[in-house]
Amino acid sequence: MARVRLVAGNWKMHGSRASVEALLDSLLQGSAQSSGARCAVCVPFPYLAQVAERLRGSAIAWGAQNVSEHAQGAYTGEVSAAMLAEFGCRYVIAGHSERRQLYGESDAQVAAKFAAARIAGMTPILCVGETLAQRDAGKTEQVVARQLAAVDFKDGVLAYEPVWAIGTGRNATPEQAQAVHAFLRRRVPQATSILYGGSVKPQNAAAMFAMPDVDGGLIGGASLVATDFLDILKAATT
Ligand code: PEP
Repeated sequence: MARVRLVAGNWKMHGSRASVEALLDSLLQGSAQSSGARCAVCVPFPYLAQVAERLRGSAIAWGAQNVSEHAQGAYTGEVSAAMLAEFGCRYVIAGHSERRQLYGESDAQVAAKFAAARIAGMTPILCVGETLAQRDAGKTEQVVARQLAAVDFKDGVLAYEPVWAIGTGRNATPEQAQAVHAFLRRRVPQATSILYGGSVKPQNAAAMFAMPDVDGGLIGGASLVATDFLDILKAATT
């Protein structure tokens, strides 16, 4: 199986029924012209049904931003992998730095979430990345290797997301990203797509995606602006 190009949007906790409708309309119109790279949007739980309905039969896949590591039971507020799969959910983000930092998700919990998504037949997108302090201390490889090694990584997508570049407007240079991607590449199955995430914009996407080990992007802020997301998708088209 060959590596595939993928651009996935992470809408985080943004949106309303009306804004989701408008964004999907624009993406559906625009994505018809951009082929060659796969496209997905990872949306807040309440909009999953709306998104599933609107994107049915289209080239845009959809996913969730989180999943419970438990199969079922007394876990108030949680959503299981089976529930997501029943809706036709394709992707699940696991280990986003916001979940690790704000909600204290451990490597073990991330590994369990990754496994739950995979066992339910979805494609987990595992996020790994170092903080600025860790980078400055020369620990980038050590950190991402530890985060990856905690997971029984197969049948997934990997996303390198330096924490210092997420939502900050400060992105890694293509060379910095390439160095970490090449390091990660040696630790995952050959066909794994490795995405870069961290302040990707239409202006920097093409240079980033031109790197030999960068297979696409996980896009936060820019995925909420249809024209920006479509331009990034176009930049990933080889
Ligand atoms: C993200 O949330 O995964 C992300 C990469 O955000 P942004 O593109 O806004 O930096």
